[in-house]
Amino acid sequence: MLDALRQVVQDLGAAPGFRASLDLLVARVAMILDAEVSSIYLRDRTTGRFTMVANEGLDTNVVGHVSLAAHEGLVGLVAERAEPVNLDEGPTHERFSKVAGLPEDVFNAFLGVPIVHVREVLGVFVIQDRRKRRYEEDEVAFLATLAAQIAGHVSHAEATGDIGGLARPGDAKSPEARFRGVPGVPGIGVGTAYVVLPTARLELVPDQEATDIDTELEVFERAIGQARADIERINEQMAKNLGPEERELFDAYLHMLDDAALGGDVRDRIRSGQWAQGALKQAILEQAATFEQMQDSYLRERSADVRELGQRVLANLQDVGGERPPHPDNMVLVAEEVTAPMMADFPIEQLRGIVSLKGSRNSHGAILADALGIPTVMGAMDVPIYTVESQTVIVDGYYGEVFVNPSAVVRDTYGQFEAEEEEFARELEGLRDLPSETRDGYAINLWVNIGLVSEITRSLDRGAEGIGLFRTEVPFAMGDRFPTEEEQRAAYREHMEAFDPRPVTMRTLDIGGDKPLSYFPIEEENPFLGWRGIRVTLDHPEIFLGQVRAMLKANAGLECILRIMLPMVSRIEQIAEAQALIGRAHREVVEEGYDVKTPMVGVMIEIPAAIYLTREIARMVDFLAVGSNDLTQYMLAVDRNNPRVADLFEEVHPSMLIALREIAKSCHAEDKPVGICGELAGTPEGAVLCVGMGYDVLSMNAANLPRVKWVIRSVSLRDCRRILARALRMRSSEEILAWVRDQLVDAGLERAVPHHEVPAILG
Ligand code: PEP
Ligand code: MG
Repeated sequence: MLDALRQVVQDLGAAPGFRASLDLLVARVAMILDAEVSSIYLRDRTTGRFTMVANEGLDTNVVGHVSLAAHEGLVGLVAERAEPVNLDEGPTHERFSKVAGLPEDVFNAFLGVPIVHVREVLGVFVIQDRRKRRYEEDEVAFLATLAAQIAGHVSHAEATGDIGGLARPGDAKSPEARFRGVPGVPGIGVGTAYVVLPTARLELVPDQEATDIDTELEVFERAIGQARADIERINEQMAKNLGPEERELFDAYLHMLDDAALGGDVRDRIRSGQWAQGALKQAILEQAATFEQMQDSYLRERSADVRELGQRVLANLQDVGGERPPHPDNMVLVAEEVTAPMMADFPIEQLRGIVSLKGSRNSHGAILADALGIPTVMGAMDVPIYTVESQTVIVDGYYGEVFVNPSAVVRDTYGQFEAEEEEFARELEGLRDLPSETRDGYAINLWVNIGLVSEITRSLDRGAEGIGLFRTEVPFAMGDRFPTEEEQRAAYREHMEAFDPRPVTMRTLDIGGDKPLSYFPIEEENPFLGWRGIRVTLDHPEIFLGQVRAMLKANAGLECILRIMLPMVSRIEQIAEAQALIGRAHREVVEEGYDVKTPMVGVMIEIPAAIYLTREIARMVDFLAVGSNDLTQYMLAVDRNNPRVADLFEEVHPSMLIALREIAKSCHAEDKPVGICGELAGTPEGAVLCVGMGYDVLSMNAANLPRVKWVIRSVSLRDCRRILARALRMRSSEEILAWVRDQLVDAGLERAVPHHEVPAILG
């Protein structure tokens, strides 16, 4: 059975499109399990009904016409239980209901297994037989395994709109729909969806009818011509380093593009009505699958070449094929994975909201959106990226909800929330020049996390009293090579001059993990446990030294205190090594004639091992800062970017609170200041808890600063300690969050925490 299973999964990869893969599935399953009828029912997200979308064994016109309500019949029973139902005599079961158009009562044996994706039943796979028989355990297991394997494809098809097409052919107007993601950046944004499709991912290209075949052919010619030119150029460049044998691959690529091979195949498909991108996808995936099935391992490997070639041509096609309409003034950016450079393509003031299908609140895309104050929902995996373009979208960044085509009622409700928010923001502007201290006069440093020059003014406008985290990897990521020492100096100087005489904390380069540099690729199985932060820069002292020299020079002649901060420290030796390099850089800069002060040196606590070394570390350095984003990730073993586990990313997990309190205590025992610069510091709940623990610095994105200042100025240190003391006795983050929020509401601060009800939509 394992072989059969593998074969089915492999064949699925070769099927041209979702529709074909469903047909293939029901046919194969009927054959392998020797079932008379095999059907797939998929749930319609808007109506909740299960519609038969593929069938083997019944009259073909039942497909697309038979549908059951969520709890109707045996299919409904499987969906409700989310478990297989195996009956030798289905029609006698109390939940059996005769469905119009189906001769179901003649089929006795019934096996239904749910298709479950991330706890949701997306569909039901059913096999039936006239005979009275109970399916064997291994048959149940086979179908269940297959259903689990295809669940991801089904979810993806929902996201791409393929499923809607199956159930309601030709229905172009999307109904009102609500999708759940995870809160990215708090706030409400209403606008028109503008979709940035991923470049060149073959699998995601939808099948689509060509509007004009000649234009599609022309577009394809240009793309293929460009691919040829690229390959020839690379071949020539490689001639210096590779022998003719190794370069044969490029000749093979060129042959594949020939008319007799892929090129011709794609053209034929375009002529029969498919648009160029769809035709290319079909041809490439089919060809790649053929190679994949070959016995010979060399030939099997060629499938990767075919795909690579396909990606290349597709990238060109997406470049040359069709003009994008201009983006709307009030746009909601929707993309599979929203990245920092993507955001930079649009005028920030026109970005009303962001919806990212991948990632979570701690992804760097979300962190940048937070810095810019754009309401964002992350990990909204199911938003139909291919059909949402130009539709009205509401982004509820408080609760991670996305409404597409909202009704007038939903729109009005959110319109009201938005107006309240704007009024609140105006009120907060008045706090700018007031000190950040609690009602009983306890002062807290509210600093900003920064990385872009464009954030300087916003940060100062919001009353930032210093920079608590300068993410130097941001300017590093902007170019196509490492910046020179002078380029770095100029960028750092701009920030330091703007903030002078306020303190500026410069973190040394923290690349790796989810912060790649395009020109310095790091290929690793497990990047978050790999070559990250200080591990990279200590292995490349030339990068480290250049960066520290640039920081020191940027600080020359200014009053502002330079604080150099080391990321991802896990062992004491790393600190000693980095300090030696900083000392050396300082001497060099002084020798060059600069008048520079000795910088302060600090360490980030973001790896659990460092928690237990806090006192040791505190003795060695001038300050410490907790990177609660990474600390949560490593403490709880939860990837900060993975929406599947986003609800497990609990920054106020009881263990986190204990750890955060211990860190603060250890630092103070050594008389060293301690800050926190993860996203937690910028939330009202986190701020109250951290003040209660005695953190000296809260560093956050500028957008969150006024709200946190308002909260701090409205509570007393005693309140914060009392709230913390009770929170430390609680057993779950839900309980902790609910408690802190209740306390804020009781103190009249409900506007600081999300407090609106998410409106329901009528299905
Ligand atoms: C952190 O890990 O909390 C942090 C502030 O650093 P970054 O988010 O840049 O990894
Ligand atoms: Mg970090």
